[in-house]
Amino acid sequence: MRIDVLTLFPEMFEGVFGASILGKARDKGLVSLQAVNFRDYANNKHNTVDDYPYGGGGGMVLKPEPIFAAVEDLMPEGSEPPRVILMCPQGETFTQRKAEELSAAEHLVFVCGHYEGYDERIRQHLVTDELSIGDYVLTGGELPAMTVIDSVVRLLPGVLGNENSAVTDSFSTGLLEYPHYTRPAVFRDYAVPDVLLSGHHANVDAWRREQSLLRTLQRRPELLEQAELSKKEREWLRRLMAERESLEKE
Ligand code: SAM
Repeated sequence: MRIDVLTLFPEMFEGVFGASILGKARDKGLVSLQAVNFRDYANNKHNTVDDYPYGGGGGMVLKPEPIFAAVEDLMPEGSEPPRVILMCPQGETFTQRKAEELSAAEHLVFVCGHYEGYDERIRQHLVTDELSIGDYVLTGGELPAMTVIDSVVRLLPGVLGNENSAVTDSFSTGLLEYPHYTRPAVFRDYAVPDVLLSGHHANVDAWRREQSLLRTLQRRPELLEQAELSKKEREWLRRLMAERESLEKE
């Protein structure tokens, strides 16, 4: 996969692209990652990339020309056009499903805004996706782009040492992941659940599935509506919810 990021602050990406799992993925040639300063595409004497908004009001607006020129320059001739992703608090909220969808693409281009916003023509005529990482406003699109890139790259084949670890992650299964424990078996009188020490794989799997369902019910019950559950599991959850409701009424 190839990932290009258009930003006014490419230096922000040096640490993130060079370290940990992203750095290893890049070293192994599983992904190409580059941050490009779209100021280099400004077509005026002072290299300005922003201007005052028509109609007045506070804040500066990113001009369309440098961003269109940069995206067009990054499109290799004869290849599929990239997904051009605008980071934007007004966009679709980013989810694990979206990360899975993007991980199938050949080429992603992220556009990171700054200041008040973008010229609307960028949104209308250049981008294929608008993504928000949540209902809050940051100073720029760099941290949101890093968040999305990290979650997409870890899904690429060969990136995670143990392929299974992404499969059982929270949200990949439609549920939150079960709790984990490691040695020692007893720490300050807090013991690891017996079943995990039993060596009985079927019982461990059953316990993990039950814990995953319970945790999702307690923390994110709305996820259960879309999750793939057996009839038995749905009935068990219905019983638990009914018990919980009757306890709350008492
Ligand atoms: N005036 C804009 C609005 O109200 O929608 C907010 C602009 S924000 C200060 C500057 C840039 O930060 C945005 O263009 C976007 O690239 C990025 N940004 C801020 N919050 C974000 C979020 N929650 N998700 C994705 N990008 C965000």
